[in-house]
Amino acid sequence: MDIQKNIQDLKDELNLHNHNYYVLDNPTISDFEFDKKLKQLQELENQHPEFFDENSPTQRVGGTITKSFQTVVHDYRMYSLDNSYSVEDLTDWETRIQKVLGNVPLQYTCELKYDGASISITYENGKLKRAVTRGDGFQGDDVTNNIKTIKSIPLQLKGSFPNRFDIRGEIILPLEGFEKMNQELIEIGETPYSNPRNTASGSLKLQDSAEVAKRPLECLLYFIVGNNLGISSQYESLEAARNWGFKVPKESKLANNLEEVFEYINYWDKHRHDLPYETDGVVIKVNSFQHQDELGYTAKSPRWAMAYKFKAEQVSTKLNSISYQVGRTGSITPVANLEPVQLAGTIVKRASLHNADQIEKLDIRIGDEVFVEKGGEIIPKIIAVDLDKRNPNAEVIKYITNCPECNSVLERKDGEANHYCPNFYGCPPQIIGRIQHYITRKAMDIEGLGGETVALLFHNNLVKDYSDLYELKVDDVIPLERMAQKSAENLVNGIEKSKEIPFERVLYALGIRYVGETVAKKLAKHYKNIDAIRNASLMDLILVDEIGEKIAQSVIEFFDNPENIRIIERLKQFGVQFEIIEKHNPNATEKLVGKTFVVSGVFEKFSRDDLKKAIEENGGKVGSSISAKTDFVIAGENMGPAKLEKASQLKISIISEDDFISLIS
Ligand code: AMP
Ligand code: ZN
Repeated sequence: MDIQKNIQDLKDELNLHNHNYYVLDNPTISDFEFDKKLKQLQELENQHPEFFDENSPTQRVGGTITKSFQTVVHDYRMYSLDNSYSVEDLTDWETRIQKVLGNVPLQYTCELKYDGASISITYENGKLKRAVTRGDGFQGDDVTNNIKTIKSIPLQLKGSFPNRFDIRGEIILPLEGFEKMNQELIEIGETPYSNPRNTASGSLKLQDSAEVAKRPLECLLYFIVGNNLGISSQYESLEAARNWGFKVPKESKLANNLEEVFEYINYWDKHRHDLPYETDGVVIKVNSFQHQDELGYTAKSPRWAMAYKFKAEQVSTKLNSISYQVGRTGSITPVANLEPVQLAGTIVKRASLHNADQIEKLDIRIGDEVFVEKGGEIIPKIIAVDLDKRNPNAEVIKYITNCPECNSVLERKDGEANHYCPNFYGCPPQIIGRIQHYITRKAMDIEGLGGETVALLFHNNLVKDYSDLYELKVDDVIPLERMAQKSAENLVNGIEKSKEIPFERVLYALGIRYVGETVAKKLAKHYKNIDAIRNASLMDLILVDEIGEKIAQSVIEFFDNPENIRIIERLKQFGVQFEIIEKHNPNATEKLVGKTFVVSGVFEKFSRDDLKKAIEENGGKVGSSISAKTDFVIAGENMGPAKLEKASQLKISIISEDDFISLIS
């Protein structure tokens, strides 16, 4: 079979599935099948570096590190938009442009105004060539590597397209994905992001593109520029872009007059909260390109387009008091208690104030009349204080210095926005929060025990840390509120069963700051047992794939604490899993101990992964490239000539898969 064709077919197929999934929201293949094909392509590309393609679907996983982004001058300037806020503003605009055009019949394209970070992407011969941020409109930063990880952006266009053009769009973070990212941050004790727009725009400038790949970013397109495009109107260009494979929201509409534009605006002003992403307005564009040319640009924006900004839903209400919440990791969050007020369909009683800096910035005082706004965020925020209504005697708020729950003196580390209560073991919400985290589904998954019961157990002096759970008896818990014989038995059984939970989840359950599910998995896999992690130095930890200094530091601090060690030792005695149990394999031998293998080519009897597994199961090591340390190269079909030459140069034995089988049998 022709390898090059094989690779091309796989790429085409994967591109199509990407498009179905991320652009059309209509997958036609299971994730499992998709991953299998992607892996197949990855392997073929590894074996045949001569067919490397920077726009292959395998490149979407990212992994390139950009230390500083290169400045690139836009071929076509990226303009701003003029803003309008009322029907009158828009009527005035129409009058102005009709003066230039001479009262011709006008059509307008109405689009939603997507709230994210703008991007300009150059395509050449159907391939993504470069992506540049808006910057100052004349020049921006080259963020191509990051942009390629966004799955709804085609790397290869479909159908017939102009040779070269720039397409512009907005990189956004849909609300659902944004909330999920925040949920994960909260789980590991990090401060959540404040809004989707800033998070999206911050993502573009991350140095590690693999990090960008993990974020559920999307790109919504709205504008094409270039020469000889063969397109005569904005609406047509949106359709064309859609056909080439871009994600162009279906909400766009062609309006035959301003009346229809107003209808569009009114409709979306009401329904914008039903959209999966944030929008702060509508963009109205004169449809015909010929009219657009006649109108041209001002110093800063096109005369043929206008943004209409929705009024943010805002109300004013009274700030009654501020309370301070203590999280599982001890972080303090100030919360504004408001006089209840109706806003965007819900009754608002509280708003987050984030931290001390935010309170200072707002210069907010108890009793103030404050403006509250609901953006895309779930929690409403306080925008400003109505200073006219301020009581002249209102005092400046003094941020608390002591923990509201345990009275410890609060700490604030350099560079951190939040205050912390350092009383890890004596502060009730921290203790309860940690046990509540320990029992959650992704952690120890203790059936029959819920968050409220944990609080009851604590307040009744039955548990002080999660290791106490394992000493609970049915008779201890029956007296608790809403407990009966049966539910008490379920609870104790559930705790007993958690002793089977594998080490990686136990590690996550411990609630070490910054050690979320993924990090726990990485650490467990690398170190195999808790003592190895405990004994690892900072340097050691940092060398583990994807473990940064912040995480490493937090792991070190956790194990430096004798109380944590005491709890872990107790858990060990109760029989909780603190090491990875390697499944015993009857075929495993020690025959390959001390030998390093490199696997190259395609095999008949093994997949490459199975072959690597067989090497490791028999005590051997798998190397990624041929070097003086290699003992054997297992050569399959199509092994690259360069590798073959290197192996013979270094006088390394080249063996077949059958030779390998006899080695281990
Ligand atoms: P502003 O930043 O308020 O000047 O608004 C201009 C920006 O709105 C542009 O640079 C785009 O990034 C963004 N934008 C969002 N949606 C659209 C759209 N449908 N058409 C044009 N620009 C849009
Ligand atoms: Zn405290």
